[in-house]
Amino acid sequence: MKVEDLKKFIRDIPNFPKEGIVFKDITPLLKDSIAFRFTIDRICEYNSRKTIQKVVAMEARGFIFGSAVAYKLGCGFVPVRKRGKLPYETISLEYQLEYGTDVLEIHKDGIEKNDNVLIVDDVVATGGTAKAVANLVEKCGGKVAGMSFVIELSFLTPRVKLEGYDIFSLLVF
Ligand code: AMP
Repeated sequence: MKVEDLKKFIRDIPNFPKEGIVFKDITPLLKDSIAFRFTIDRICEYNSRKTIQKVVAMEARGFIFGSAVAYKLGCGFVPVRKRGKLPYETISLEYQLEYGTDVLEIHKDGIEKNDNVLIVDDVVATGGTAKAVANLVEKCGGKVAGMSFVIELSFLTPRVKLEGYDIFSLLVF
């Protein structure tokens, strides 16, 4: 399989979840054993020379890829969730959305000081979510060793917002 072959496993859903958005549905990729493994292997290959202690991913689709990457890299997995979802004491960060703000949370013992952290998500669009997750990791004393995405929507220029971070995107649209 070649990286470009993966594009046929990404389904465009126009006007979901709202008018004007073309949603990149990754479920065809997930259900294909070869495509899913290929995706995880390429992300791990890119990050293999780094020493990473934790993979951090944002709910919900980030968990699917993030946990598989953590397993293969042999490091821990730490979830980031929306406000009020995590059961233990949390560290939180408010971040800007297109309209208004939102709050992300992580368990306060999720990241050790100076942990090297890899942030994983399915799609990077504007980069706002990844930036907020990075800021939360840094607030916990961790270092962001990289960010890896299955899909980058380059027309939304996420790399501008994420300048300074080592970004890997498997598929660029
Ligand atoms: P952003 O903060 O704009 O980079 O958006 C990233 C988050 O929203 C990721 O967690 C994605 O899962 C989701 N997302 C944004 N745009 C899309 C899209 N067109 N298709 C699928 N997911 C998206």
